[in-house]
This record gives sequence, C-alpha cells and structure tokens, in this order.
Amino acid sequence: MKEIIKWLFFKIGLMRIFHQFRNKKTLTIIMLHRVLPDKQALEQGADLEWTISPELLDSIIVFAKKYYNFISLQQLQSWQSGQGILPDRALLLTFDDGWADNYGYALPIVKLHKVPAVIHQVSDCIDNHAFLWQEQLTILAKLDLLLFDELLTKLELKVNSLSEAIFEIENNVEKRNNLIKLLPTLFPLAQKMMLNSDELIKMQSQGFSLSSHGKTHSKLSLLSQSELQKELSESKKSLEKICKQKVTSISFPHGGVNTQVIQESICAGYQTLFSSQSIINLLVDGKKLFGRIHLSAENCKENNCFSSKKLSFFLFYRTKKTEVDMQCMK
Ligand SMILES: [Zn+2]
Repeated sequence: MKEIIKWLFFKIGLMRIFHQFRNKKTLTIIMLHRVLPDKQALEQGADLEWTISPELLDSIIVFAKKYYNFISLQQLQSWQSGQGILPDRALLLTFDDGWADNYGYALPIVKLHKVPAVIHQVSDCIDNHAFLWQEQLTILAKLDLLLFDELLTKLELKVNSLSEAIFEIENNVEKRNNLIKLLPTLFPLAQKMMLNSDELIKMQSQGFSLSSHGKTHSKLSLLSQSELQKELSESKKSLEKICKQKVTSISFPHGGVNTQVIQESICAGYQTLFSSQSIINLLVDGKKLFGRIHLSAENCKENNCFSSKKLSFFLFYRTKKTEVDMQCMK
C-alpha cells in the first residue's frame, strides 16, 4: 500500500512540486567513488557499496539535470566569497579518491552531458599507484590473492587477522612505507588502479575541478597536529603543481573531521570543506563546511533497474541543515 501511494505521489508530479518548493534554496552534493562496469567491478574485487556502473552514472546525471541545476566548484566558491549567486536547487557532483576508472568511465559521461564535476584526489596516489594501501589489501584478500603469512613475515608483524595488520600498519610509518614498496609486487593490478597526472590534467581540461582528499588518505581527525598540517599542506602543494592552479577545497578522507581539522584546514588555505554527512545544505553566509550524500546502486535501483522514484524519495526528503553536525563525525 505504501509503495502504491509513493508511486502515485511520484507519477502525478506531486513529488516534483514538493521538491521544487522544499529544496528551493539548497545545495545538494552527491558523493561518488568508483565507476566500473559490473563485470570489471567483480574481477577487480571493487567494493560494490562504493562502485556504480557507467550506465547508472548516466541515469543519475539525466535525473539530476531534470530536478536540479548543476554548479561547478568555482561557482560555489564565488558564492562563498560573496561574488556570485547560486541557482535554486543547486547540485554539485563529486568523486572521491582518484580511481583510474573515473578517467575511463566517468569522464566520457560527464563530458557527454556537459556537466561540471569535482575530483577529490589523494595526492600520494598520483603516479604512485600503491598508496590507497588499506583498500588494496582488502581487495587482495577478497580476490583470494593475499599471501597473508608472507606479508606478516616481510613486515615483521605478529597479528592474526587482516584488520589487526591494517591497524598495526596504520600506526607505524616505517611499516606503512615498507608495505607501499611491496604492494606493486604483491598486487600488479594495483598499478593501474589510480589516476596518473596526465589523466588528471585531461580531466581538469574537460569539466573536472581538482580538489584535495589528503596526502595519504588517513583519517585526519586521528592525527597529531603536525601530521595533520603535513597532510593538508603537502597534498595542496602537490595538486597545485600538477593542475597549475590554486587548490582551495578538500574532502576529508573517511569523513573524519573535528574542530581542529576545520581550523587547520582554513589555516592551510582551504576555503571549501566537504564532509560525508548525508544532508542537504541550507545556504547561509560564511558557510565553509558542506555535507555530501553518498549514492550507492542500492539507493537508485529497483528490481535491478534505475528508478527515478526511488532516487527521488532518497534525495528529496533528506534532512536540511545549515551546519554539519560534528558529533556524527569520527
Ligand atoms: Zn576516500
């Protein structure tokens, strides 16, 4: 019964009218990660929660063009500095991490639809494909390719599980650096997994704005002040060298943000800060920190097909907030 009412509400256009009024003066930011055809996603051991197919990305963009007005990062930043206005029901499309599939599969679709997008890039991943090491170890284990005992011996670890190994490595810079050196031999496929600088430059010239996602993809809220400052300043410097422009925005890896992370980010020269709190942003003067909505295939599909109705109900009713709630962040 509930589904029939939902269907009717959507079919006769009430959903659209509701959205037009309720979300008029808001900014919705979509957060995506990997874009891979289903077969390749399985072959590469991609985490399906964070992976959508190119067809699904196409449908999401078509949907968003119908119900929202796309904006670029530059438009958002002009509005922040009081020099521009944003359209009603503004929408910003963002991709996190810097996966090579964003070049192969997301870029052609973004170009086709002539919409702006943002790539939040982990700077140590560029031209050095082994740095998202936590994800790569998890993928190796999932594909049954991880020689766990060999890994323990080579890194001199005394643990019983992969999660314990990851925890130990996260807390030991030397072991982490050794692992990063080892990964290309453990996992040759990983060498093609992340974007290189040529691809980033091409993406930048074709509608993508470049933004930071930290230096090493560490959770910034867990770092010491000096480590935090290093993450913020060095990632900014590396990206600016590649894109030959100022980089003044950052999305926080693993959503990890607290007051100190915000203060240090602003001190390091970041003007626009993106969290992973799943809210619609109400626009108020002086706003620096924005929430983003993670979209998975699950949120957009019904009976294995894209569903505008399902995505409408997922997006349009979401909580609207002026402030991102720090308590939600780890
Ligand atoms: Zn990330």
